[in-house]
Amino acid sequence: MSQIKENLLRVTERIEKAARRVGRDPKEIKLVAVSKTVEAARVKEAIEAGVSILGENYVQEAQKKIEEIGRSVAWHFIGHLQSNKAKYAVRIFDMIHSIDSLTLAEELNRRAEQVGQVAKVMIEVNISGEATKFGTDEEKVFSIVRRILNLGHLSLEGLMTMPPYFDLPEMSRPYYTKLRELKERMVREGIPLKELSMGMSNDFEIAIEEGATYVRVGTAIFGERKQKT
Ligand SMILES: *Cc1c(COP(=O)(O)O)cnc(C)c1O
Repeated sequence: MSQIKENLLRVTERIEKAARRVGRDPKEIKLVAVSKTVEAARVKEAIEAGVSILGENYVQEAQKKIEEIGRSVAWHFIGHLQSNKAKYAVRIFDMIHSIDSLTLAEELNRRAEQVGQVAKVMIEVNISGEATKFGTDEEKVFSIVRRILNLGHLSLEGLMTMPPYFDLPEMSRPYYTKLRELKERMVREGIPLKELSMGMSNDFEIAIEEGATYVRVGTAIFGERKQKT
């Protein structure tokens, strides 16, 4: 069996175990295989092994790979998106996880309208770990979310976060708890969000315990990246 296939099996098992631990159906959790810096041949290997969603951080890199690999799988954008790349992003990605400003949302909406599409997006929330800072960022997210709901060519699917890196996965938990609580609060206030995109190679089990519906896993599937990004 190829290394990638073996890794994928192990990740899938870990996802299932984490889900069961907290009484969730493992099918609720979708795996985004993060393929930034990974060459097309190895991405194809992952697809043959069963991966169905790829996550990319750079528009140009993704564009090339998609040309070579095709659209039998879904391509998600998970990196920082510059407004001047919005017009490409709406065309090539099935989902954008990382909207971090209203300006970007409006530009994506405009570009989606031009090509007659509705772009699926999530908002990236910068969760502050400190209880004392509770509130401010959340309020800003609420106002962005409300504005986005009025943009006819964006479909707001959920929230995404990326905590600082910790060696101890358990340290990520408070960030994931907060994102889940934020989503729950929005749902209570009538904002229909479905998804929580959270959890990476070293902490996706914690994220699943806290409610993740998308986990974004690179290293645990493809091995260490040469360039650290
Ligand atoms: C690179 C990246 C990941 C995957 O990180 P791994 O630790 O390799 O699993 C997930 N999310 C984002 C936003 C990333 O940039």
